[in-house]
Amino acid sequence: MADRKKNGLVCPRCGSIMNYQIEVELRHDGTRVVYRYYRCPVCRYKITDSVVTIRRINGKIVTEAKNSNIPTLIESYSINKTRYLSV
Ligand SMILES: [Zn+2]
Repeated sequence: MADRKKNGLVCPRCGSIMNYQIEVELRHDGTRVVYRYYRCPVCRYKITDSVVTIRRINGKIVTEAKNSNIPTLIESYSINKTRYLSV
């Protein structure tokens, strides 16, 4: 049988191992939204881990993280630190 400890989260609906997934949405204004979530491969149940919005404002990259457990964080980065954003 599969080792359940290896993958962590078990679906609360059907008991299957959930997959961890990251999705990046690119909006028309250049904003990127990074969704991190667990998705059950069997019943498609979804648990959101975090949502990070990345915007460019006045030449600066501003990221805003929303997480159900942690209060909203706002950090800004100078433009030369944006390489990790490339998809
Ligand atoms: Zn499930």
